[in-house]
Amino acid sequence: MPTVTIEGKAVAVAQESTILEAAQKAHVWIPTLCYHPTFSTLAACRICMVEIEGSAGRPGRLVTACNYPVRRDITVSVSSERAVRVRNGVMQLLLARAPESKELQELAARMGVRGTPYPKVTESQRNCILCGLCVSVCEEVIGVSAIGFAGRGVERAVAAPFRQASETCIACGACAAICPVGTIQVRIHTDTGEAEISPFKSRSKLLICEECGVHMVSVPVAQAMSDRVKIDWEEFRRLARLCPECRRKQAVKALGIGAAEGSVTPPEEIQVKN
Ligand code: SF4
Repeated sequence: MPTVTIEGKAVAVAQESTILEAAQKAHVWIPTLCYHPTFSTLAACRICMVEIEGSAGRPGRLVTACNYPVRRDITVSVSSERAVRVRNGVMQLLLARAPESKELQELAARMGVRGTPYPKVTESQRNCILCGLCVSVCEEVIGVSAIGFAGRGVERAVAAPFRQASETCIACGACAAICPVGTIQVRIHTDTGEAEISPFKSRSKLLICEECGVHMVSVPVAQAMSDRVKIDWEEFRRLARLCPECRRKQAVKALGIGAAEGSVTPPEEIQVKN
């Protein structure tokens, strides 16, 4: 097993582990944005740059920690002047792309970066740092591929086909949940009973609880869930049309416990004893 000496701490790691994994094992913090353990590494944002110490008079090498495979003993510096300068420069560029992102501002503050000297990007680029996590989750986890990269150079952006509202988006919200800079948002329009995935403009009708009328998941998500559960059980489908609270109330009623609303006391035989 090769040894990674990082910030003076030596850790043995499996062949082909990444420097980031070695850093995590050594409890050394390296900033990341586009890295997510679920997906193949994109190394798109470059915020995890570190320096591998040179040998035999050769200069050190700057690499992305999230995808650099460890194949031999190496010494890595996260805090070298070069590594810090490059990471801070990357952060300044990202701040110009996503100036309103609270998440990015917090990370910048943790890195000691205050503001950016670069001009802010145009509105069409919408605070996106092009990390690609939303594209990966939509394709690899949800299996929908409603969004992808479009355009080149400064016009490059994540968008639905033809930059129009996507017809295949199911408004699951996974892209919003994974966006590291909080740019993608799920907006609920109670007037029309729709969920909108901003900035992709796609909209889907929301399921409305048949008991209390509260808005729940989008209809396509509910449909996909119903299709996946391959049981012919009408009761399950009926319960799926209720919000969690109404479902809970019905379950309590069916069990005949907790007569007074909001004071549900399990019967003696199912109470947890310390
Ligand atoms: S909300 Fe739409 S675009 Fe986002 S992950 Fe779900 S299907 Fe894909």
